[in-house]
Amino acid sequence: MIRINENYTKLKASYLFADIARRVGAYTAAHPQSPVIRLGIGDVTEPLPPACVEAMHAATDEMSRRETFKGYGPEQGYAFLRELVAQHDYAGRGCRIEPDEIFISDGSKCDCGNIQEIFSTDARLAIPDPVYPVYVDTNVMAGRTGANVGGRYEGILYLESNASNGYVPAVPDAPADLIYLCFPNNPTGAVATRAQLEAWVAYAKRNRAVILFDSAYEAYIRDPAIPHSIYEIEGAREVAIEFRSFSKTAGFTGTRCAYTVVPKSLVAWDASGQTHPLHALWNRRHTTKFNGVSYPVQRAAAAIFSEAGRQQTRALTDFYLGNAQLIRSAVASLGLSAVGGDNAPYIWVNSGRDSWDFFDLLLDKAQVVCTPGAGFGKCGEGHIRISAFNSRENVEKALVRIAAALR
Ligand code: PLP
Repeated sequence: MIRINENYTKLKASYLFADIARRVGAYTAAHPQSPVIRLGIGDVTEPLPPACVEAMHAATDEMSRRETFKGYGPEQGYAFLRELVAQHDYAGRGCRIEPDEIFISDGSKCDCGNIQEIFSTDARLAIPDPVYPVYVDTNVMAGRTGANVGGRYEGILYLESNASNGYVPAVPDAPADLIYLCFPNNPTGAVATRAQLEAWVAYAKRNRAVILFDSAYEAYIRDPAIPHSIYEIEGAREVAIEFRSFSKTAGFTGTRCAYTVVPKSLVAWDASGQTHPLHALWNRRHTTKFNGVSYPVQRAAAAIFSEAGRQQTRALTDFYLGNAQLIRSAVASLGLSAVGGDNAPYIWVNSGRDSWDFFDLLLDKAQVVCTPGAGFGKCGEGHIRISAFNSRENVEKALVRIAAALR
Protein backbone atom coordinates (compact mmCIF):
# COMPACT_ATOMS: atom_id res chain seq x y z
CA MET A 1 0.00 0.00 0.00
CA ILE A 2 1.47 3.30 -1.09
CA ARG A 3 1.43 5.85 1.70
CA ILE A 4 1.60 9.62 1.52
CA ASN A 5 4.24 11.89 2.98
CA GLU A 6 2.21 12.71 6.09
CA ASN A 7 4.14 15.91 6.67
CA TYR A 8 1.92 17.41 3.98
CA THR A 9 -1.09 16.95 6.25
CA LYS A 10 0.49 19.36 8.73
CA LEU A 11 0.33 22.21 6.21
CA LYS A 12 -2.33 24.82 6.68
CA ALA A 13 -5.34 24.11 4.47
CA SER A 14 -4.42 26.35 1.55
CA TYR A 15 -1.75 28.64 0.28
CA LEU A 16 -2.32 32.30 1.17
CA PHE A 17 -2.79 33.46 -2.42
CA ALA A 18 -5.28 30.66 -3.10
CA ASP A 19 -7.38 31.97 -0.18
CA ILE A 20 -7.22 35.50 -1.56
CA ALA A 21 -8.13 34.31 -5.08
CA ARG A 22 -11.16 32.49 -3.64
CA ARG A 23 -12.44 35.61 -1.84
CA VAL A 24 -11.79 37.85 -4.84
CA GLY A 25 -13.45 35.28 -7.14
CA ALA A 26 -16.55 35.22 -4.94
CA TYR A 27 -16.67 39.03 -4.85
CA THR A 28 -16.30 39.48 -8.61
CA ALA A 29 -18.91 36.79 -9.31
CA ALA A 30 -21.37 38.64 -7.06
CA HIS A 31 -20.41 42.13 -8.36
CA PRO A 32 -19.55 41.74 -12.05
CA GLN A 33 -19.96 45.52 -12.60
CA SER A 34 -17.29 46.47 -10.04
CA PRO A 35 -13.82 45.76 -11.43
CA VAL A 36 -11.22 45.17 -8.73
CA ILE A 37 -7.68 46.58 -8.68
CA ARG A 38 -5.10 44.08 -7.51
CA LEU A 39 -2.42 45.39 -5.18
CA GLY A 40 -2.16 42.00 -3.52
CA ILE A 41 0.04 39.35 -5.06
CA GLY A 42 3.53 40.64 -5.84
CA ASP A 43 3.55 40.12 -9.60
CA VAL A 44 4.96 42.73 -11.92
CA THR A 45 2.80 44.47 -14.53
CA GLU A 46 5.24 46.28 -16.84
CA PRO A 47 6.69 44.55 -19.93
CA LEU A 48 10.24 43.25 -20.26
CA PRO A 49 12.97 45.84 -20.90
CA PRO A 50 13.60 46.26 -24.66
CA ALA A 51 17.25 45.14 -24.28
CA CYS A 52 16.03 41.78 -22.91
CA VAL A 53 13.43 41.37 -25.64
CA GLU A 54 16.02 42.06 -28.37
CA ALA A 55 18.44 39.57 -26.86
CA MET A 56 15.70 36.95 -26.59
CA HIS A 57 14.69 37.46 -30.23
CA ALA A 58 18.30 37.15 -31.39
CA ALA A 59 18.80 33.99 -29.31
CA THR A 60 15.59 32.49 -30.70
CA ASP A 61 16.93 33.11 -34.22
CA GLU A 62 20.11 31.27 -33.23
CA MET A 63 17.96 28.33 -32.17
CA SER A 64 16.37 28.29 -35.65
CA ARG A 65 19.68 27.61 -37.48
CA ARG A 66 21.54 24.30 -37.43
CA GLU A 67 24.93 26.04 -37.03
CA THR A 68 23.89 27.99 -33.93
CA PHE A 69 21.22 25.71 -32.49
CA LYS A 70 21.69 24.72 -28.81
CA GLY A 71 20.42 21.64 -27.03
CA TYR A 72 20.98 21.06 -23.33
CA GLY A 73 23.19 23.72 -21.81
CA PRO A 74 25.22 23.44 -18.61
CA GLU A 75 22.81 22.73 -15.72
CA GLN A 76 24.48 25.47 -13.66
CA GLY A 77 23.96 28.08 -16.40
CA TYR A 78 25.98 29.40 -19.33
CA ALA A 79 29.36 30.93 -18.49
CA PHE A 80 28.39 34.19 -20.23
CA LEU A 81 25.65 34.82 -17.66
CA ARG A 82 27.53 33.54 -14.59
CA GLU A 83 30.47 35.80 -15.48
CA LEU A 84 28.27 38.87 -15.86
CA VAL A 85 26.58 38.19 -12.50
CA ALA A 86 29.95 37.74 -10.77
CA GLN A 87 31.29 40.94 -12.32
CA HIS A 88 28.30 43.28 -11.90
CA ASP A 89 26.41 42.00 -8.87
CA TYR A 90 29.45 41.02 -6.79
CA ALA A 91 32.88 42.30 -7.92
CA GLY A 92 31.21 45.68 -8.62
CA ARG A 93 30.24 45.82 -4.92
CA GLY A 94 33.56 44.58 -3.60
CA CYS A 95 32.38 40.99 -3.01
CA ARG A 96 34.58 38.05 -3.96
CA ILE A 97 32.25 35.62 -5.75
CA GLU A 98 33.55 33.40 -8.58
CA PRO A 99 31.36 32.62 -11.62
CA ASP A 100 31.34 28.91 -10.72
CA GLU A 101 29.88 29.73 -7.30
CA ILE A 102 26.75 31.00 -9.10
CA PHE A 103 23.99 28.56 -10.05
CA ILE A 104 21.52 29.87 -12.62
CA SER A 105 17.97 28.58 -12.14
CA ASP A 106 14.40 29.15 -13.22
CA GLY A 107 13.40 30.95 -10.05
CA SER A 108 14.22 31.82 -6.48
CA LYS A 109 11.01 30.22 -5.29
CA CYS A 110 12.32 26.81 -6.34
CA ASP A 111 15.82 27.53 -5.05
CA CYS A 112 14.83 28.74 -1.61
CA GLY A 113 12.31 25.89 -1.41
CA ASN A 114 14.78 23.22 -2.55
CA ILE A 115 17.90 24.30 -0.68
CA GLN A 116 16.76 22.67 2.57
CA GLU A 117 17.28 19.25 0.96
CA ILE A 118 21.04 19.46 1.45
CA PHE A 119 20.71 19.91 5.23
CA SER A 120 19.92 17.32 7.88
CA THR A 121 16.27 16.76 8.74
CA ASP A 122 16.98 17.64 12.38
CA ALA A 123 18.49 21.05 11.58
CA ARG A 124 17.16 23.66 14.00
CA LEU A 125 15.34 26.36 12.05
CA ALA A 126 15.14 30.09 12.68
CA ILE A 127 12.54 31.70 10.42
CA PRO A 128 11.19 35.26 10.47
CA ASP A 129 7.56 36.04 11.27
CA PRO A 130 6.00 37.50 9.12
CA VAL A 131 7.60 35.59 6.26
CA TYR A 132 7.51 34.61 2.60
CA PRO A 133 5.58 31.34 3.20
CA VAL A 134 7.87 29.15 1.04
CA TYR A 135 10.60 28.94 3.70
CA VAL A 136 8.22 27.54 6.29
CA ASP A 137 6.10 25.27 4.09
CA THR A 138 9.04 23.52 2.42
CA ASN A 139 10.50 22.66 5.82
CA VAL A 140 7.12 21.36 6.99
CA MET A 141 6.99 19.13 3.89
CA ALA A 142 10.49 17.84 4.66
CA GLY A 143 9.47 16.88 8.20
CA ARG A 144 11.57 19.42 10.08
CA THR A 145 8.61 20.66 12.16
CA GLY A 146 5.90 19.32 14.40
CA ALA A 147 2.23 20.18 14.18
CA ASN A 148 0.79 23.63 13.61
CA VAL A 149 -0.41 24.76 17.03
CA GLY A 150 -2.21 28.09 17.22
CA GLY A 151 -0.78 29.26 13.90
CA ARG A 152 2.82 28.23 14.57
CA TYR A 153 4.71 25.05 13.79
CA GLU A 154 6.43 23.26 16.63
CA GLY A 155 10.17 23.09 16.18
CA ILE A 156 10.68 26.48 14.52
CA LEU A 157 12.39 29.34 16.30
CA TYR A 158 10.31 32.28 15.05
CA LEU A 159 12.16 35.55 14.58
CA GLU A 160 9.53 38.14 15.36
CA SER A 161 9.52 41.29 13.24
CA ASN A 162 7.31 44.02 14.60
CA ALA A 163 7.10 47.76 15.13
CA SER A 164 9.27 47.54 18.26
CA ASN A 165 12.30 46.20 16.36
CA GLY A 166 11.61 48.15 13.17
CA TYR A 167 10.55 44.88 11.51
CA VAL A 168 14.15 43.59 11.54
CA PRO A 169 14.58 40.72 14.03
CA ALA A 170 17.58 40.82 16.35
CA VAL A 171 19.71 37.69 16.77
CA PRO A 172 18.05 35.35 19.27
CA ASP A 173 19.54 34.06 22.54
CA ALA A 174 18.80 30.47 21.51
CA PRO A 175 20.95 28.62 18.95
CA ALA A 176 19.80 27.68 15.44
CA ASP A 177 21.44 25.82 12.53
CA LEU A 178 19.59 27.15 9.50
CA ILE A 179 18.52 30.80 9.43
CA TYR A 180 16.30 32.37 6.78
CA LEU A 181 16.67 36.11 6.22
CA CYS A 182 15.08 38.21 3.50
CA PHE A 183 16.10 41.83 2.82
CA PRO A 184 14.60 43.99 1.40
CA ASN A 185 11.83 42.10 3.08
CA ASN A 186 8.73 40.53 1.68
CA PRO A 187 6.18 41.29 3.14
CA THR A 188 7.30 44.24 5.31
CA GLY A 189 9.54 46.15 2.90
CA ALA A 190 12.06 46.60 5.75
CA VAL A 191 15.80 46.64 5.03
CA ALA A 192 18.66 45.51 7.29
CA THR A 193 21.58 47.80 8.07
CA ARG A 194 25.20 46.70 7.80
CA ALA A 195 25.43 46.45 11.62
CA GLN A 196 22.34 44.23 11.76
CA LEU A 197 23.72 41.91 9.08
CA GLU A 198 27.10 41.82 10.82
CA ALA A 199 25.33 40.63 13.98
CA TRP A 200 23.67 37.82 11.99
CA VAL A 201 26.95 36.73 10.39
CA ALA A 202 28.61 36.69 13.82
CA TYR A 203 25.70 34.67 15.23
CA ALA A 204 25.97 32.14 12.38
CA LYS A 205 29.73 31.80 12.99
CA ARG A 206 29.22 31.27 16.73
CA ASN A 207 26.61 28.60 16.12
CA ARG A 208 28.29 26.98 13.07
CA ALA A 209 25.01 27.77 11.31
CA VAL A 210 24.12 28.72 7.73
CA ILE A 211 22.21 31.87 6.73
CA LEU A 212 19.93 31.55 3.71
CA PHE A 213 19.81 35.13 2.48
CA ASP A 214 17.01 35.95 0.06
CA SER A 215 17.65 39.24 -1.73
CA ALA A 216 15.04 38.94 -4.46
CA TYR A 217 14.30 42.67 -4.04
CA GLU A 218 17.90 43.91 -3.97
CA ALA A 219 17.36 46.07 -7.07
CA TYR A 220 14.98 48.30 -5.07
CA ILE A 221 17.59 49.47 -2.57
CA ARG A 222 18.20 53.21 -2.96
CA ASP A 223 19.80 54.03 0.39
CA PRO A 224 23.56 53.85 -0.31
CA ALA A 225 24.27 52.69 3.27
CA ILE A 226 22.21 49.50 2.92
CA PRO A 227 24.13 46.38 1.79
CA HIS A 228 22.81 44.75 -1.40
CA SER A 229 24.40 41.39 -0.68
CA ILE A 230 25.18 39.41 2.45
CA TYR A 231 28.69 39.00 1.00
CA GLU A 232 29.32 42.69 1.63
CA ILE A 233 29.66 41.57 5.25
CA GLU A 234 33.07 40.26 6.25
CA GLY A 235 33.04 36.51 6.89
CA ALA A 236 29.74 35.88 5.08
CA ARG A 237 31.44 33.60 2.52
CA GLU A 238 31.87 31.12 5.38
CA VAL A 239 28.25 31.20 6.59
CA ALA A 240 25.81 32.27 3.88
CA ILE A 241 24.01 31.21 0.72
CA GLU A 242 22.36 34.00 -1.28
CA PHE A 243 19.31 33.89 -3.56
CA ARG A 244 18.70 36.48 -6.25
CA SER A 245 16.01 36.68 -8.90
CA PHE A 246 15.51 38.63 -12.12
CA SER A 247 11.74 38.49 -11.51
CA LYS A 248 11.37 41.82 -9.76
CA THR A 249 14.59 43.34 -11.07
CA ALA A 250 13.60 43.12 -14.74
CA GLY A 251 10.03 41.80 -14.99
CA PHE A 252 11.05 38.13 -15.38
CA THR A 253 8.19 36.64 -13.32
CA GLY A 254 6.76 35.02 -16.45
CA THR A 255 10.11 34.53 -18.18
CA ARG A 256 11.80 32.77 -15.23
CA CYS A 257 15.43 33.28 -14.37
CA ALA A 258 17.23 33.57 -11.04
CA TYR A 259 20.43 32.45 -9.36
CA THR A 260 21.79 31.07 -6.12
CA VAL A 261 25.29 31.70 -4.79
CA VAL A 262 27.00 28.95 -2.81
CA PRO A 263 30.57 29.96 -1.95
CA LYS A 264 33.16 27.19 -2.07
CA SER A 265 34.36 28.21 1.39
CA LEU A 266 31.01 27.33 2.99
CA VAL A 267 30.86 24.01 4.85
CA ALA A 268 28.50 21.98 7.03
CA TRP A 269 29.15 18.96 9.21
CA ASP A 270 28.16 15.28 9.12
CA ALA A 271 27.25 13.23 12.19
CA SER A 272 30.89 12.26 12.75
CA GLY A 273 32.00 15.91 12.81
CA GLN A 274 33.57 15.83 9.32
CA THR A 275 33.12 18.98 7.20
CA HIS A 276 31.59 18.95 3.72
CA PRO A 277 31.58 21.85 1.23
CA LEU A 278 27.99 22.85 0.53
CA HIS A 279 28.96 23.92 -2.98
CA ALA A 280 29.55 20.25 -3.91
CA LEU A 281 26.24 19.18 -2.37
CA TRP A 282 24.22 21.86 -4.12
CA ASN A 283 26.02 21.18 -7.39
CA ARG A 284 25.07 17.49 -7.02
CA ARG A 285 21.46 18.35 -6.23
CA HIS A 286 21.15 20.95 -8.99
CA THR A 287 22.69 18.77 -11.71
CA THR A 288 20.64 15.73 -10.69
CA LYS A 289 17.26 17.44 -10.52
CA PHE A 290 17.53 20.41 -12.89
CA ASN A 291 18.40 20.67 -16.57
CA GLY A 292 19.16 24.33 -17.02
CA VAL A 293 17.32 27.51 -17.99
CA SER A 294 16.57 27.90 -21.69
CA TYR A 295 19.22 29.59 -23.82
CA PRO A 296 17.02 32.51 -25.01
CA VAL A 297 16.04 33.28 -21.42
CA GLN A 298 19.66 33.29 -20.25
CA ARG A 299 20.56 35.60 -23.14
CA ALA A 300 17.68 37.89 -22.11
CA ALA A 301 18.98 37.86 -18.51
CA ALA A 302 22.51 38.66 -19.68
CA ALA A 303 21.14 41.73 -21.50
CA ILE A 304 20.12 43.19 -18.12
CA PHE A 305 23.83 43.87 -17.55
CA SER A 306 24.38 45.76 -20.82
CA GLU A 307 24.50 49.55 -20.67
CA ALA A 308 20.99 49.83 -22.12
CA GLY A 309 19.71 46.97 -19.94
CA ARG A 310 21.01 48.60 -16.78
CA GLN A 311 19.33 51.91 -17.63
CA GLN A 312 16.05 50.22 -18.55
CA THR A 313 15.88 48.05 -15.41
CA ARG A 314 16.71 51.05 -13.25
CA ALA A 315 13.83 52.94 -14.90
CA LEU A 316 11.55 49.97 -14.23
CA THR A 317 12.38 49.73 -10.52
CA ASP A 318 12.23 53.54 -10.23
CA PHE A 319 8.75 53.41 -11.71
CA TYR A 320 7.50 50.88 -9.11
CA LEU A 321 9.23 52.84 -6.34
CA GLY A 322 7.32 55.90 -7.58
CA ASN A 323 4.09 53.94 -7.06
CA ALA A 324 5.34 52.96 -3.61
CA GLN A 325 5.87 56.62 -2.66
CA LEU A 326 2.31 57.48 -3.73
CA ILE A 327 0.98 54.60 -1.62
CA ARG A 328 3.10 55.56 1.42
CA SER A 329 1.91 59.16 1.38
CA ALA A 330 -1.74 58.24 0.76
CA VAL A 331 -1.65 55.80 3.66
CA ALA A 332 -0.01 58.40 5.91
CA SER A 333 -2.65 60.98 5.02
CA LEU A 334 -5.30 58.53 6.19
CA GLY A 335 -3.60 58.46 9.60
CA LEU A 336 -2.29 54.89 9.23
CA SER A 337 1.30 54.05 10.08
CA ALA A 338 3.34 52.08 7.58
CA VAL A 339 6.87 50.96 6.74
CA GLY A 340 8.53 49.88 3.49
CA GLY A 341 8.27 51.39 0.05
CA ASP A 342 11.58 53.32 0.24
CA ASN A 343 13.92 50.48 -0.66
CA ALA A 344 11.31 47.86 -1.49
CA PRO A 345 8.16 47.53 -3.61
CA TYR A 346 5.96 46.63 -0.60
CA ILE A 347 4.25 48.83 1.95
CA TRP A 348 3.40 47.21 5.28
CA VAL A 349 0.46 49.03 6.78
CA ASN A 350 -0.54 48.83 10.42
CA SER A 351 -4.28 48.34 9.91
CA GLY A 352 -5.08 48.55 13.61
CA ARG A 353 -7.60 45.73 13.26
CA ASP A 354 -7.93 42.11 12.14
CA SER A 355 -6.05 41.84 8.86
CA TRP A 356 -8.62 39.67 7.04
CA ASP A 357 -11.40 42.09 8.16
CA PHE A 358 -9.40 44.97 6.70
CA PHE A 359 -8.81 42.95 3.53
CA ASP A 360 -12.59 42.36 3.22
CA LEU A 361 -13.31 46.05 3.90
CA LEU A 362 -10.98 47.20 1.11
CA LEU A 363 -12.42 44.59 -1.25
CA ASP A 364 -16.07 45.43 -0.46
CA LYS A 365 -15.83 49.20 -0.17
CA ALA A 366 -12.93 50.07 -2.50
CA GLN A 367 -12.69 47.06 -4.80
CA VAL A 368 -8.98 46.95 -4.01
CA VAL A 369 -7.17 43.69 -3.28
CA CYS A 370 -4.36 43.81 -0.73
CA THR A 371 -2.71 40.95 1.15
CA PRO A 372 -3.78 40.33 4.75
CA GLY A 373 -0.74 40.29 7.02
CA ALA A 374 -1.97 37.27 9.00
CA GLY A 375 -1.30 35.17 5.91
CA PHE A 376 2.44 35.77 6.42
CA GLY A 377 2.49 34.65 10.06
CA LYS A 378 1.26 35.49 13.52
CA CYS A 379 3.17 38.80 13.67
CA GLY A 380 1.47 39.84 10.42
CA GLU A 381 -1.85 40.10 12.25
CA GLY A 382 -3.03 43.73 12.40
CA HIS A 383 -1.22 44.56 9.14
CA ILE A 384 -1.82 44.46 5.41
CA ARG A 385 0.72 44.41 2.59
CA ILE A 386 0.13 46.74 -0.35
CA SER A 387 2.19 46.03 -3.44
CA ALA A 388 3.53 48.77 -5.72
CA PHE A 389 3.42 46.45 -8.72
CA ASN A 390 0.77 47.96 -10.95
CA SER A 391 0.29 50.68 -13.56
CA ARG A 392 0.38 54.28 -12.30
CA GLU A 393 -3.23 54.70 -13.41
CA ASN A 394 -4.39 51.72 -11.33
CA VAL A 395 -2.41 52.78 -8.27
CA GLU A 396 -3.86 56.30 -8.41
CA LYS A 397 -7.37 54.97 -8.90
CA ALA A 398 -6.95 52.48 -6.05
CA LEU A 399 -5.72 55.19 -3.68
CA VAL A 400 -8.71 57.43 -4.43
CA ARG A 401 -11.03 54.51 -3.75
CA ILE A 402 -9.25 53.53 -0.52
CA ALA A 403 -9.41 57.14 0.73
CA ALA A 404 -13.15 57.30 -0.03
CA ALA A 405 -13.76 53.95 1.71
CA LEU A 406 -11.84 54.83 4.88
CA ARG A 407 -12.92 58.43 5.39
N1 PLP B 1 11.77 35.35 -2.65
C1 PLP B 1 10.89 36.28 -2.29
C2 PLP B 1 11.09 36.97 -1.00
C3 PLP B 1 9.82 36.59 -3.10
O1 PLP B 1 8.93 37.51 -2.72
C4 PLP B 1 9.65 35.91 -4.33
C5 PLP B 1 8.52 36.18 -5.23
O2 PLP B 1 7.59 36.84 -4.96
C6 PLP B 1 10.58 34.95 -4.66
C7 PLP B 1 11.63 34.69 -3.81
C8 PLP B 1 10.41 34.13 -5.91
O3 PLP B 1 10.94 34.69 -7.01
P1 PLP B 1 10.99 33.90 -8.40
O4 PLP B 1 10.02 34.58 -9.30
O5 PLP B 1 12.42 34.05 -8.82
O6 PLP B 1 10.64 32.46 -8.17
